[in-house]
Amino acid sequence: MTGDRAGDYRILHEAALRDYLAGLPDLVALLGAEPVSWSITEVGDGNLNLVFIVKGDRGGVAVKQALPYVRLVGKSWPLPLSRAHYEYLALSKQADLAPGLVPALLHHNETLALTVMELLEPHIIMRKGLVAAAQYPRFAGDITAFMARTLFFTSDLALSAAEKKEGIAAFAGNHALCKITEDLIFTDPYRIAEQNRWTAPYLDGLAASLRDDMDLHVAISRLKLKFMASPEALLHGDLHTGSIMVTDSQTRVIDPEFAFYGPMGFDVGAVLANLLMAYFASAGHERAPGERAAFEGWVLETVEQVWNEFARKFLDLWRAGAAGDAYPASLFAGETGAARLEAERQAYMQRLFADAVGFAAAKTIRRIFGLAHNIDFELIEDPRRRAISEARAVRLARAMMVETGAFPAIADVTGAARKLRDWMPEFVNG
Ligand code: ADP
Ligand code: MG
Repeated sequence: MTGDRAGDYRILHEAALRDYLAGLPDLVALLGAEPVSWSITEVGDGNLNLVFIVKGDRGGVAVKQALPYVRLVGKSWPLPLSRAHYEYLALSKQADLAPGLVPALLHHNETLALTVMELLEPHIIMRKGLVAAAQYPRFAGDITAFMARTLFFTSDLALSAAEKKEGIAAFAGNHALCKITEDLIFTDPYRIAEQNRWTAPYLDGLAASLRDDMDLHVAISRLKLKFMASPEALLHGDLHTGSIMVTDSQTRVIDPEFAFYGPMGFDVGAVLANLLMAYFASAGHERAPGERAAFEGWVLETVEQVWNEFARKFLDLWRAGAAGDAYPASLFAGETGAARLEAERQAYMQRLFADAVGFAAAKTIRRIFGLAHNIDFELIEDPRRRAISEARAVRLARAMMVETGAFPAIADVTGAARKLRDWMPEFVNG
């Protein structure tokens, strides 16, 4: 599936892309025999890459090509093309481990940093649906299957030590993408950085307080170290609601170009954080009261299901047959051994939950003070209303990060979110 000589990278805009795909018989068969009649539209709304949708009379595909720089910023911020290789590798692995939950891969060209995949249609980006107060009853079940399976089966609980280290090595070169996370999530929001922005003037005081808050600086630094130094499992690495495409009956995870071996709580926390942000943003959007209440109720219920079902599925996989080198069965023989191992599994999940709570908080704060914001908040046009929603999310996030122990269960997180639903930040009266 890979081809071409090194050094032949070029950006394939419409005509060149048409010619390129026309040279691939399998894709011609899928699209329809008349390349001139294919429609080609660039739809990339992400921060980094080009995405084209190509449609012929028989079918369609999505084509993703990496640019040698960050799309959102421009050529002044170079970024290695190799991320397309890691994205392809991660998608292949996820397709094996969590069948039906990622787009099917159709073609990859390493030199062009280009991947052709199944066209997801009529799926939409989940975040867009959440902004429109849509509910996705299948989401919790699907995303927890995705996370439980991809995380468990790439961990030391399931793999031999050799397999695990080969896995780490295969993704270790994706460090430029990790560095983006290390800077944009774990560092910049807490210091003066050119790329930071927030809803001024309302959040000016909060932004300044983040820069002086040493409890928060210790907490975010611990999380950063955990992100850098804990290769527990193959992470998606960017598992927010903009990396998930949905219909009422299907969930597909896309865009794993940040994949690497890291702490499991980072992926789980990303999902929780993005649901919580949708919850807090809800108050800022024009919504009939009944619709608002129904949506917010569903979101918090989903937050609880995401953790509870993830934990249940992960534990089921562990109990059903952990073939990995961690926790050797020979050390836990007999009834006493089984009981101690089960207690240890519960303790493991408790630590993982605390990690997820901390990472969820980090993910929230970066979306409000850092470079990349999200439409949950950005589409609240009135800046004062937006700032109120954002301040509520930040209040919860700070508590989750600094007082993580005060959130021993997911119900503590949703309970705290509920309490903040109508809380008013100081700038409202000041
Ligand atoms: P980036 O890495 O630049 O963030 P994404 O992988 O998130 O790129 O894709 C950008 C957009 O392209 C998505 O938000 C989605 O609208 C569209 N897209 C990506 N993959 C597909 C697909 N397989 N089918 C349909 N649309 C897709
Ligand atoms: Mg994206």
